[in-house]
Amino acid sequence: MVSRVIPVEPFDLVIFGGTGDLARRKILPGLYRRFCSGQMGEDSRVIGAARAEMDAEGYRQFVREAIDEFDAGRTCEVGTIDAFLKRLDYVTVDALGKDGWPDLAKLMGEGTGRVRAYYFSVAPSLFGALAERLHTYGIADEDARIVVEKPFGRDEASACALNGVLAEHFDESQIYRIDHYLGKETVQNLMAVRFGNMLFEPLWNSQYVDHIQITVAETVGVGGRGEYYDKSGAMRDMMQNHLMQLLCLIAMEPPAKFDPDAVRDEKLKVIRALDEVEPRDIVRGQYEAEGDKPDYRTHVENPESTTESFIAMKVHLSNWRWAGTPFYLRTGKRLRARTSEIAVVFKETPHSIFGPEAGRHRNILTIRLQPNEGMDLGVTIKEPGPGGMRLVDVPLDMTFADALGPDAEDVPDAYERLIMDVIRGNQTLFMRGDEVEAAWAWTDPIIAGWEKRGDKPEPYESGSSGPEDALALMHRDGRRWREIRI
Ligand code: NAD
Repeated sequence: MVSRVIPVEPFDLVIFGGTGDLARRKILPGLYRRFCSGQMGEDSRVIGAARAEMDAEGYRQFVREAIDEFDAGRTCEVGTIDAFLKRLDYVTVDALGKDGWPDLAKLMGEGTGRVRAYYFSVAPSLFGALAERLHTYGIADEDARIVVEKPFGRDEASACALNGVLAEHFDESQIYRIDHYLGKETVQNLMAVRFGNMLFEPLWNSQYVDHIQITVAETVGVGGRGEYYDKSGAMRDMMQNHLMQLLCLIAMEPPAKFDPDAVRDEKLKVIRALDEVEPRDIVRGQYEAEGDKPDYRTHVENPESTTESFIAMKVHLSNWRWAGTPFYLRTGKRLRARTSEIAVVFKETPHSIFGPEAGRHRNILTIRLQPNEGMDLGVTIKEPGPGGMRLVDVPLDMTFADALGPDAEDVPDAYERLIMDVIRGNQTLFMRGDEVEAAWAWTDPIIAGWEKRGDKPEPYESGSSGPEDALALMHRDGRRWREIRI
């Protein structure tokens, strides 16, 4: 299979926060990969803009080191690392002051007729100041795009305020709110599988689906992000955005066409159809120490912390398609394995013609986001050999790396794909302002509830599947979580 790389039109991408962790680890190596594949043409420029005093040459060295560290060993199909570095420039800019802005305006003036994109890879408290200055200095035309990072607010009120600040200077069609989960190949494949095949959609409802599980498990603890994380927790950091977006894609109605607003309208309807969640349907946890690795509270240097590093919940959607089918969602840190998957668990056949000894079987469609991106469908067949009609479940496996061969290795990572979508002006995989607000509107009362009751998270063993109560959440319904494993 030959992959087709369609070059995007020439662009100028300014990365505010171009010396930060995210730029170093994801954005810059990602742009380099797109350059290497021939998607970013020779005419485009990438301009780092941050507080650090540095010249263009210093920035090129900084980026070379970032690529060496995070994308070592790549061979460029088109051009060389030096050719890529030539496309880079740098301006020292203070988002909150005047310094550097005339220089940036001058630099942008040299690149007329290109797509202009501004990546706000900085703290959200700077978004307003950046948006305002882009206008004051006349460097954002009506076709310019801005890309904003999570966290997008910490509740509905702050998300509305942030939307308001951006809306003062930019139209919604210019704002690209990143949720990098939406840039994953498998997540888009989920839409292809659902809406490109006749096979699944007729069964995609509460009549045939027993329940759906979404798991995003990490093995790492909070790392160096302790201070930030402790004010946020798994609900705000993961559930409100990444898991919610996955839920939307799995549960939404088919949009009339694959167009940004048609898709996002359907996702918004899913969020609005979410029922309130009963406290008994939520389990929060905090990881314990493991060997020389500290427990959560020591990690975040807050001995009183009641922030959750794990959350599991059962949610319901009040609509025709899903009434009666529960969705079980869980995410946490320091769990047994680093794995993200969605499992659509179908109902058992209404009657087994093979008798009780054949056992009980279910089809499960598993969509793996990581590791080994791909899907498999568990199908029940006869166990080979003599001995009567014994049944066994086998996977019809479609691991992308196996099915697509070497091309699968060249699948762009989420950030690369999303940045190219910004340049193309395609907002399908970005969250719209009303979606983010609706997600917070659903989240806020849940958090307020446990704050009011003084709920404390349950300790769980590091390297486990989370707190015991999370297992009980499903056992109680006669179901069980899929094992967290690689
Ligand atoms: P960072 O602290 O590593 O970098 C911050 C950058 O902002 C630096 O380049 C700094 O020079 C610049 N900056 C700070 N104040 C400035 C000012 N007044 N004027 C101009 N530039 C200024 O942060 P990061 O980890 O790269 O994160 C950036 C954003 O992305 C944050 O909003 C963060 O929440 C979000 N984010 C980061 C990650 C990640 O993996 N690092 C993941 C998801 C979201």
